[in-house]
Amino acid sequence: MLRLVLLGGPGSGKGTQAARLAEQTGARHISTGQLLRAEIAAGTELGHRVAAYLDAGELVPDDLLFGLVLPIIEVAGPSTGYLLDGFPRSKTQAQRLDAEVGRCTEVCRVVLLKVPARELVRRALGRGASQGRSDDTPEVIKHRLQVFERESSELIRYYRDRGLLYEVDAAADPDTVYRRIQAAL
Ligand code: AMP
Repeated sequence: MLRLVLLGGPGSGKGTQAARLAEQTGARHISTGQLLRAEIAAGTELGHRVAAYLDAGELVPDDLLFGLVLPIIEVAGPSTGYLLDGFPRSKTQAQRLDAEVGRCTEVCRVVLLKVPARELVRRALGRGASQGRSDDTPEVIKHRLQVFERESSELIRYYRDRGLLYEVDAAADPDTVYRRIQAAL
């Protein structure tokens, strides 16, 4: 059963690679960014509470996020497996996830998609133009990168210390990166 976390900065290709892996393995692709954007689009109470965080490129408070994503992870964990895209995003979230799920739901592998910061900015700007994401403006992208850089080193260390981390050079086209992920796994 594949229970995988995809780690990487904004624009590192997590969503693209998770979608491919989901298609190939049947594991459920769980993107917290997509789930949050769907709440906003549907005008739910949660959507109203989180919109300002997404617009600013800030992390949504953990309690709101866990209430949304944990039930989905708990269903997918023992049945289809899962591919987490955009979650956990901090060591605190990773620890809380480990504490709150049972053994047959816990994360068993983590793939870090490594892309230089300059390339991340270039990709995210291109995506904003094509997908109309309100948080893909130059200022917000810059801030999201800062948030990633601030949170990711502890998070990466957390998973490396558990022996779960696989690092993949992701500064390449999607097919090449996908082959590298398969080789790493
Ligand atoms: P993404 O689509 O993964 O780039 O996420 C878009 C935005 O959703 C982020 O900039 C955050 O505002 C919010 N978000 C997504 N995942 C998380 C998370 N794990 N923790 C906190 N906020 C999140």
